[in-house]
Amino acid sequence: MKTYDVVVVGAGHAGCEAALAAARVGASALLLTLNMDHIAQMSCNPAVGGVAKGHVVREIDALGGAQGIIADAASIQFRLLNRGKGPAVWSPRAQCDKVCYQRAMKCYLENTPGLDILQAEAVDFVTEGDRIAAVRTQFGQEIPTRAVVLTTGTFLRGKLHFGLRNFSGGRTGDAASERLSAALKETLHLRLGRLKTGTPPRVLAKTIDFSTLEEQEPEKGEERFSFWGDLNRALFLPRAAHREMPCHMVYSNQATAAVVRANLDQAPLYQGKIEGIGARYCPSFEDKVVRFAHHERHLLFLEPEGEFTGEYYINGFSTSLPPRVQDAMIRTLPGFENAVISRYAYAIEYDFVFPDQMERTLRSRLWANLFTAGQINGTSGYEEAAGQGLVAGFNAARVAAGREPEELPRDASYIGVMIDDLVSKEIVEPYRLFTSRAEYRLHLRQDNADLRLCGFAFQNGLLPEAKYRLFTAYRDALAHTLELCCTVRRQGKTLLEHFTVYGGEYDASRPLPFDETLLELDRSPFRERILRQLAIQAHYAGYLEREDHSIARLKKLEAWKIPAGFDFAAIPGLRNESRAKLIKAAPSTLAQAERLDGVTPAEIGLLQIHLTRLHLAPDTVESEA
Ligand code: FAD
Repeated sequence: MKTYDVVVVGAGHAGCEAALAAARVGASALLLTLNMDHIAQMSCNPAVGGVAKGHVVREIDALGGAQGIIADAASIQFRLLNRGKGPAVWSPRAQCDKVCYQRAMKCYLENTPGLDILQAEAVDFVTEGDRIAAVRTQFGQEIPTRAVVLTTGTFLRGKLHFGLRNFSGGRTGDAASERLSAALKETLHLRLGRLKTGTPPRVLAKTIDFSTLEEQEPEKGEERFSFWGDLNRALFLPRAAHREMPCHMVYSNQATAAVVRANLDQAPLYQGKIEGIGARYCPSFEDKVVRFAHHERHLLFLEPEGEFTGEYYINGFSTSLPPRVQDAMIRTLPGFENAVISRYAYAIEYDFVFPDQMERTLRSRLWANLFTAGQINGTSGYEEAAGQGLVAGFNAARVAAGREPEELPRDASYIGVMIDDLVSKEIVEPYRLFTSRAEYRLHLRQDNADLRLCGFAFQNGLLPEAKYRLFTAYRDALAHTLELCCTVRRQGKTLLEHFTVYGGEYDASRPLPFDETLLELDRSPFRERILRQLAIQAHYAGYLEREDHSIARLKKLEAWKIPAGFDFAAIPGLRNESRAKLIKAAPSTLAQAERLDGVTPAEIGLLQIHLTRLHLAPDTVESEA
């Protein structure tokens, strides 16, 4: 059988992005999946983006990835969340047509040169020394490969809970991957844990009385995820007709809570039937009723699953109570008195690989050509999965070509923040991104992902030349206008200072108090984008400078590399607790060591002295040590 550069196991959100990234940088890639018709299926909410997640989608787009392009193609409603707050936390989100999203991604994969797709189950590996030589399928085939990316999502020994009954499954309607967990433990000697997540019921629209529900205002405007405009149209993807389908809001009430309370003995979580740990930040409805007993009601969003389906998703109504109880719960909601559930809610438990066994490149510390990405790394969410998938696929291709894998730093992307957190912090619940996880969030905005990442992407073959040319035209026009804005003065202020009137959000209905031709944007195709950037720059002026100083400090600490296998036990003066943490986390830089909970600045100083004695200080900062 043909030897592939990269075999990706799993065609969920991580796997698709991994396979595409590998192929984009010139590797031959094979994408293995259990069901060709379920590629890029949205197991839960049919929406992409949201707080911090929308930033990641923009970063993926800047890195030449697919998620933003596909979400734009399948979008049936687009919003910019958090508009009432500062621009650093504005977050784009698209409600998507679930089926269109899958079809568009499948079409994209099928038309990508160098990428093959095969419906087959990976069950084991053939190893040679510290490398994986082949992936074995359920048919007994051994597929030779130079690198492997595992993106098996919620499928590893997946168990679905509907009340006290449980079934094997990767998600409802899909079989679990039962044999691969054993191979990860026995053949690859990886440490596995168990996590849990859940999904709400889907309800038939024709059985809901919408006249009593509050409609969520659709947003006007042409906002999209992808920067690449017409360049994406050449892909000929299936597209939603962009009908701007509305979402609705509804509140639960005391009758709903009473049904839950009366049936807690049927909740697997409260009866000790679920061993996997769920996310505190995303509680099930029964959790909300128990933990927030003082709340009279809970807000639920009713979201369409697509243009050509009558199914609606009830955001906020996740439960693992039995179907009989779900029927009773749903009918307590106003407008849902006669509602019919088409798919019952459930919880799912699955195995994951503790991500502290990976490097910041997402490569295994044990296996030189193995990478993991997505839910298998203990994360939750399509965007988190896709961001990791892109990095893992890109790096797998590099390793297959005999090159060193690359890291994305924390100060340049949310994807870098997430991966650094994953490999250096203990996973105690499914990990998802929040803007608060980034220390440099004024720099890491959704509107400047291209400025942060397109250069890296182009240099490393991830971004094609046509996209890069478009980006540089914009970047240069922005730099020119910014220069003008900082040097030209009107009415005692620089032009940039005049932009503070917008409070970060450029508003065309509030004209500037100077002749706009001074900005030289009259015929620029980037006029709107540049004006927005100027408003944001003016809004954050002093703060951005302050963040620049901390980023420079972080960079200095990042330059102190700690070699693999470094003997932390040999450093005198460390407290036992810190020494144990350092040995367990095995940080690869001083910056990473500094972020470990409980390791003090004095101990970082000791580490610095020790590294200097071993001649491991970076050239640029040796004199400061
Ligand atoms: P998945 O999308 O799960 O894809 C895994 C892929 O691997 C599939 O294509 C499968 O066919 C393939 N595969 C598995 N094993 C093998 C094998 N051995 N050989 C070949 N192929 C294999 N996220 C949230 O952010 N919020 C939520 O509230 C939420 N709730 C969820 C509720 C449920 C019930 C489920 C199932 C998921 C939920 N998620 C939620 C998670 C979200 O679906 C995932 O985070 C996201 O899909 C992860 O992407 P992934 O690519 O890692 O894995």
